Amino acid sequence: MTAPRPLVAGNWKMNGLKAQLKELTELAQGFDDALKSKIDLLVCPPATLVCPAANATNGARIAIGAQDCHTGVSGAHTGDVSAQMLGDCGATFVIVGHSERRADHGESDATVRAKAKAVLAAGLTAIVCVGETRAQREANEATAVVGRQIDGSLDALFDPAKIVVAYEPVWAIGTGLTPTTADVAQMHEFIRHRLVALYKEAGAGVRILYGGSVKPSNARELMGVKNVDGALVGGASLKAADFLGIAAAYR
Ligand code: PEP
Repeated sequence: MTAPRPLVAGNWKMNGLKAQLKELTELAQGFDDALKSKIDLLVCPPATLVCPAANATNGARIAIGAQDCHTGVSGAHTGDVSAQMLGDCGATFVIVGHSERRADHGESDATVRAKAKAVLAAGLTAIVCVGETRAQREANEATAVVGRQIDGSLDALFDPAKIVVAYEPVWAIGTGLTPTTADVAQMHEFIRHRLVALYKEAGAGVRILYGGSVKPSNARELMGVKNVDGALVGGASLKAADFLGIAAAYR
């Protein structure tokens, strides 16, 4: 099987008022045909901007996603948003199990799996995040932790074509720190084996993104690692120029 088509995804987190949408215009201008032929580009703004962002990127081949969703379709869940609602707004991806949600909202692997199931049921693609903390890495538990998260957050019944896995070491998010390329290669190979065990040949086609302090200056090196099929980018996705600088790793 040929390597999966790379995906460069931006996670704006809880950042961005309507004025931030101008970055999408700049992004659309910089996402030229040469780049379009090589990678998929995705922006996940806060829920308030999913609809206008999808309208703003209509026709630009920039996908819009959300950062979280509820496990259900509708009902008495004040303040929550379902995957179906996000799809109705134009989202085609939903991030689930980001470490900030696992930490801030106590989301367990079972919850993440239920959310991923809801995303797939809505016809969207789930980006399932996994990654160890600094303490877990220092205790040599990184692969055991990520293995548990993969097993607990995915399901053999999921359609692998609708799954993306993002490996994001918690200690690398927003810190400017990154693992060595050898550590990234080791973890991505481990995740690949897990995906093949779960989905057989189709597991080879599941995109595995690296996330954690990706910036234009380190993107080429990180994206060049075997089994790294793109990036999940936080801070550096807020400015179109920086995000395009990361995508340029694939030129
Ligand atoms: C993230 O939160 O998904 C992330 C990778 O953040 P940053 O790029 O800012 O480290």
